[in-house]
Amino acid sequence: MTKAKKEAKSAKALKEELFSRKEHAAQRMDAKELKACDAFCKGYTAFMNQCKTEREATDFFTAELEAKGFQAFRPGMKLTAGDKVYLNNRGKAVILATIGTAPITEGVRLCAAHIDSPRLDLKQHPLYEQSEIGYFKTHYYGGIKKYQWTAIPLSLHGVIVRSDGEKITVRIGEDAGDPVFYITDLLPHLATEQMKRPLALGIKGEELNIVIGSMPFRDDDSAELVKLHLLEILHEKYGITEDDFLSAELEIVPAFPAREVGFDRSMIGAYGHDDRVCSYPAFRASLDTVNPVHTSVVILTDKEETGSDGNTGLCSSYLKYFLMDLAECFGANGRRVMSASKCLSADVNAGFDPTFPDVLEKNNCAYLNHGVCVTKFTGARGKSGTSDASAEFVGEIRQLLDAGNVIWQTGELGKVDMGGGGTVAAYIANLDIDTIDVGVPVLSMHAPYELVAKTDVWAAYRAFKVFLES
Ligand code: MN
Ligand code: MN
Repeated sequence: MTKAKKEAKSAKALKEELFSRKEHAAQRMDAKELKACDAFCKGYTAFMNQCKTEREATDFFTAELEAKGFQAFRPGMKLTAGDKVYLNNRGKAVILATIGTAPITEGVRLCAAHIDSPRLDLKQHPLYEQSEIGYFKTHYYGGIKKYQWTAIPLSLHGVIVRSDGEKITVRIGEDAGDPVFYITDLLPHLATEQMKRPLALGIKGEELNIVIGSMPFRDDDSAELVKLHLLEILHEKYGITEDDFLSAELEIVPAFPAREVGFDRSMIGAYGHDDRVCSYPAFRASLDTVNPVHTSVVILTDKEETGSDGNTGLCSSYLKYFLMDLAECFGANGRRVMSASKCLSADVNAGFDPTFPDVLEKNNCAYLNHGVCVTKFTGARGKSGTSDASAEFVGEIRQLLDAGNVIWQTGELGKVDMGGGGTVAAYIANLDIDTIDVGVPVLSMHAPYELVAKTDVWAAYRAFKVFLES
């Protein structure tokens, strides 16, 4: 061998030793693991089709927890290692916990994900008729690109509390025989003026009006007969009158089912991957963590998309109160339990999109099929609003994931000064809990139909499980 060749070989070896490793997950998973990944994603897809709102996800999780022997948590209850409890917060958020063998004063292992997604909420006086078409007025929830919500099939989910106090559950547009709903857009032929609007104003908030009917009540002697006919149908079906919308939470979401995407079926398209693509793996990981050392806690929360305020969001005290009550069951101090706890804030991150390469910095962003993304800090501009995990905690998580053979990567949400965003990490870190963001990379985040890679969903599950078992 010539000297030059020797040097070339040693450079290769040295690179292997010194350079960061970037590799497609499929090159690192054996056939058995790829099969397990696919089976896991089948379960995830079914969950996505069953649960499109925070309420539906909460119902799903609660039913499954009860079937798996979790008991409703009561302050002061007697708990020992292996016991499983849950708390349902107002039908919109869930906390589940499995008691570990270590004393509670050694802290809990917490995974936090959110189950609300961007959508269109109905206003409190939603129903009206114009030119013999019936409509619902909406107020959008979370960050959306409004033009994306027109001309697609939509479904209606939520609850109505009638004047007699009865709560009616609504879910229309998901089953094959159901009607769907619709928001119109202008035909290109007549959109010359609309096309001059900037993209953000292409469709305006007050133009997100849902078409819900067009047949009049059969009587030619009165106005608003389409509206009357619609109320007649709603009264027959739900026993409601127009005023009952005042005490309702009705959410319009895309009616598309979750599907495999690509000839190779390697991806999943669905509404609301953000953040059910972390919620579901965290939930499963918790169920599969039977005898944890530290008490494992998973919180599946509401209101992240509007800033986490409100009593079902993580800026409220409900997580803190739960941890304090849990500590008290062992005669421990809740504040000390929190200080000793560690958290994975499980939320999605932007995946690199080759069609729009300019917004992400290639050395510091997440790629599809490169595993679950660990994000040290979030925020905007000068890291505004971040909790920024410490080097020590990142070091600990790194070791844990590597030891567990979890496929993971690291990435930031976008280039510096390109925009940014936050997660619940800061609110949990504010409780004096070591916290870091870990989640699945998503393409077209916050669009009516978002895209993830199956191997990343699986990697998220593996990461949460390794963490909850630690
Ligand atoms: Mn999110
Ligand atoms: Mn989001």
